[in-house]
Amino acid sequence: MLKRNESMSMHCSLRAGGIAQTLFIPDDLQALINFLQNNSKPVLFVGLGSNLLIRDCGFQGVVVKLTQLKSLTLNDSTITAEAGVTLAKLSRIAQTNNHHGAEFLSAIPGTVGGALAMNAGAFGMEFWQFVNRVQTINAAGEVFERTANDFDISYRQVLANHTDEYFICADLIFNAESNSQNIKQLLLQRNASQPIGLPSCGSVFKNPKGYFAAQLIEQANLKGFCIGGACVSSKHTNFIINSNNATADDIENLILHIRQTVKSNFDIDLETELKII
Ligand SMILES: Cc1cc2nc3c(=O)[nH]c(=O)nc-3n(C[C@H](O)[C@H](O)[C@H](O)COP(=O)(O)OP(=O)(O)OC[C@H]3O[C@@H](n4cnc5c(N)ncnc54)[C@H](O)[C@@H]3O)c2cc1C
Repeated sequence: MLKRNESMSMHCSLRAGGIAQTLFIPDDLQALINFLQNNSKPVLFVGLGSNLLIRDCGFQGVVVKLTQLKSLTLNDSTITAEAGVTLAKLSRIAQTNNHHGAEFLSAIPGTVGGALAMNAGAFGMEFWQFVNRVQTINAAGEVFERTANDFDISYRQVLANHTDEYFICADLIFNAESNSQNIKQLLLQRNASQPIGLPSCGSVFKNPKGYFAAQLIEQANLKGFCIGGACVSSKHTNFIINSNNATADDIENLILHIRQTVKSNFDIDLETELKII
């Protein structure tokens, strides 16, 4: 599916953001390859947009949304999942088929592609711990096989040795002896501590070494503080909520204000986990 002048607020969980000149949602890998072979515009690959903010000036190029690349196959030891498979589905199917250890993913609203790009994690576990191999595609539509050695992987950060490549598929191995966590329990825990159901991007800032970003923001008296329609959540201070038609500008200004306040109070630099384009 190809759309022109699409508001990215429809495709980002913050429900804010500018217009993408073109939005392309390929039906399958071959459609993606064909498209890229004939495209010369800048590309931005996205999944569920749950960690993404496109500035109000928009994106002059093609946003490639991979949510239709959602095939998932299992064999004895490996799950092969395309980039558009949601983490909720992956963790559910892993559990049903006795591939143990994927339970933590049930609480992260994203896709396999987004989790690979972000090294998404929760409850002490990170996505790349379970990656055996990935397939990538470049802007010219060429497909490659890569392993973890081709990336520099750390807390919520994945830097590629081969730049200009995007994730299309992963082989994952979840081989814990038994379920390490109970999915229902994890979701209850999440609902109790996070403003689930309101437009947000999850944690806006990474936790600085030795600190919790949420705690620093709360101690800086920013709980509930708003700029325009963007507010610091009262339930979890590392979340920004779009509570009243916030623009991307409102959200970015609030981020800047939080960073400056935390810096002047504690001399600590907060780094965003949220990707701003
Ligand atoms: C309520 C809530 C709770 C959250 N809790 C957590 C949590 O516990 N842990 C956590 O880690 N995150 C959490 N997040 C953030 C988010 O869910 C994760 O970062 C998730 O991995 C993003 O996946 P996505 O598919 O939505 O990626 P997007 O938001 O669409 O994209 C994120 C980044 O990845 C890039 N990207 C996406 N797909 C690809 C691809 N195929 N190839 C290359 N680059 C790509 C994008 O360009 C962008 O830079 C939460 C978000 C919300 C809203």
